Amino acid sequence: MPEGDTIYRTADALRRELAGQVVTSFESQLPQLTRVDEDAPIAGRTVVDVRAVGKHLLIELSGDLVLRTHLRMRGSWHVYRPGERWRRGQQHMRIVVATARSVAVGFDITVAELLDSRALARCSDLNRLGPDLLAESFDVGEAVTRLRQRPEMLVGDALLDQTVMAGIGNVFKSEALFACRINPLVSVARLRDEQLESLVRKARALLARNARPGPWAGRGQTWLRQTTGSLDPSARLWVYGRTGRPCRQCGTPIVSRLHGSGTRRSYWCPKCQG
Ligand SMILES: [Zn+2]
Repeated sequence: MPEGDTIYRTADALRRELAGQVVTSFESQLPQLTRVDEDAPIAGRTVVDVRAVGKHLLIELSGDLVLRTHLRMRGSWHVYRPGERWRRGQQHMRIVVATARSVAVGFDITVAELLDSRALARCSDLNRLGPDLLAESFDVGEAVTRLRQRPEMLVGDALLDQTVMAGIGNVFKSEALFACRINPLVSVARLRDEQLESLVRKARALLARNARPGPWAGRGQTWLRQTTGSLDPSARLWVYGRTGRPCRQCGTPIVSRLHGSGTRRSYWCPKCQG
């Protein structure tokens, strides 16, 4: 599932390939995009910048137009050379932005819109976002304040609430909670300020470490998330996806449970995070 680190790296890759380039063709399966493209063609515009905001990806075009996409559970962006074979089938294509030197393809994207700067400023999905964990200006105190405003929420749900802070998904939620020895099913009210602060700092550090290509990342390779610091590829994560397997610290079997909206699973060690 795409989390803030994925979006950040995707924005980075798209910016390197597209920024400063003129769009030579634009194609989409999404009617809300083709409608705008018919009235105000995308081809001929220059890509000004590509940015990640929380889990949103913004491609800014000349002539006051921004393509906002959200990858949700299954979406992705790939960059290819013109004529290069795609790694996903044509039927998954939703958006193609081509320039003379590269072709950016958005696969399985359902949330996408073209906005001018006024509409972007009014975009409630963006306005409601809490502080962006990967932004340089990220404010730990602000994130803790927003957590405190949700005392009844389970901390495992609060961390995923993008209006508290933006960028965390299921993987980093479970991993940060393990690293801080906090049980995901504890309510925010029961945690001390220092615990919340260390949790926010840990989540930010884990996301940031994964947002920048490390020595194990190569072009075209599948990205492997890393939170344990281990060089062994089978020991990359502490608890996420490890139900029933021994805790890497104490050997107790890892447990997991769905909670909140019922689609989000938390993984934890019942002993270390008792
Ligand atoms: Zn343990």
